[in-house]
Amino acid sequence: MFDRSRRNLAHWFALSMGGILFAFAGVGYCLNVEEQLRLFDDELFHHSKTLAAKTHYSLYQSQWQTQRTQAFLENGVTLNGGLVYARWYDTEKRLVQFIGSPGTKKLTAKPGFQALQVQLGSEDSPTTTTWVRQVTLPILQDTVLIGYFQTAAPMDSLRSSLNQARLFITVGVPITFGVIGITGWFLGGLAMRPSQRAYLQLQRFTADASHELRTPVATVLSNAQVALIPPEDPLEQRLRLQKIAETAKSMSVLINNLLFLSRHEGSLAETTLKPVDLSKLLRSLAQDFTVQASTQGLYFIAQLPEHPVMLRADANLLKQAVINLLSNALKYTPAGGKVQLRLFIQSHRAVIQVEDNGIGIPPNDLPHIFDRFYRVDTVRSRQTGGFGLGLAIAQQIIQAHQGQITVKSFPSQGSTFQIDLPLRI
Ligand code: ADP
Repeated sequence: MFDRSRRNLAHWFALSMGGILFAFAGVGYCLNVEEQLRLFDDELFHHSKTLAAKTHYSLYQSQWQTQRTQAFLENGVTLNGGLVYARWYDTEKRLVQFIGSPGTKKLTAKPGFQALQVQLGSEDSPTTTTWVRQVTLPILQDTVLIGYFQTAAPMDSLRSSLNQARLFITVGVPITFGVIGITGWFLGGLAMRPSQRAYLQLQRFTADASHELRTPVATVLSNAQVALIPPEDPLEQRLRLQKIAETAKSMSVLINNLLFLSRHEGSLAETTLKPVDLSKLLRSLAQDFTVQASTQGLYFIAQLPEHPVMLRADANLLKQAVINLLSNALKYTPAGGKVQLRLFIQSHRAVIQVEDNGIGIPPNDLPHIFDRFYRVDTVRSRQTGGFGLGLAIAQQIIQAHQGQITVKSFPSQGSTFQIDLPLRI
């Protein structure tokens, strides 16, 4: 599923970016052609104008003395200067003089620029065909038309530079298209990663939740089936029903926990946050846990400030997070042990510590204990009714309050869970 989405992403990315690239390359090429042609025409025009002015003067001054003019033309107007031919016409558009190919006897082209193919060599024995840019200029003297001048320059250099640009585009565009495709594939992978992670997490969570529910459902079913058989011993039947009730209760706890986790994902809405006196909240919890600890043969010590410690929070959720930590401390500390609850302020943050000197957590398990359904000792946790969700819930609550929860623990020495919360009202 993710591979298909990634392929689609890469596909659309390459298509859209490739389309843009293609459009830019096309426009760029057209602009380039236009600019090169403009420069070429400018130069040709400039060259032709000077040439036309000089040679007409000479032609008229010399009264059409063909030999002198020819000499002047061959000395002064060299075709090595990049011109293929130069032609002079009188006002009736009749050919008067030329160098290079003579063309037609009568001027047919309109004044201006044209690109055309011409035969090089003499008229009788043309050698090669080449593309030229031809310009035809009317020659005016004091606003009076005195003739026409036509010349042409080879377009080889222009064509080869445009060919190069075209080659660059034909080779460059597909290569860039490929690079865009690979980049799209790579970016697609990056973009998919968070959703893939979230999907895998959800998949694992659903699998874990179903797994956790399977055992109690099987227990309920088997006990109910036996209880339905006419009893030989009414006490036995009562025990079965009791077991069903207990299992259903624990299933209800699990379902509530799961609902809790899915409901309070992400940060909390501002409207649900109210000013809470953390000191007061923990004091009331301490009272409950002192009683509970003493029934388990544990010492419970609360070190809480007398003054209020105010912050914006959802009081019920915060209470739930601390209850989860305190319940664990009581659960995983053998009789005779000590559990402490502390509250103090450090660097503009409220710090809550729950410390016990119980069984502790092995270093290998520490990085995972906040994962959903993670239990260090599965058998012990099951016996104490744990599903491995208490710490995940506590962490989710604290993170929703922009706080953080950390742990330090050593096997057989005990654990200290610490909650840091920003002090803002
Ligand atoms: P559970 O409901 O199983 O207690 P939690 O998410 O609350 O699940 O805790 C996850 C695991 O972390 C527990 O199974 C337990 O092994 C370990 N743990 C949590 N708190 C303590 C503690 N104070 N001392 C020792 N182990 C603890």
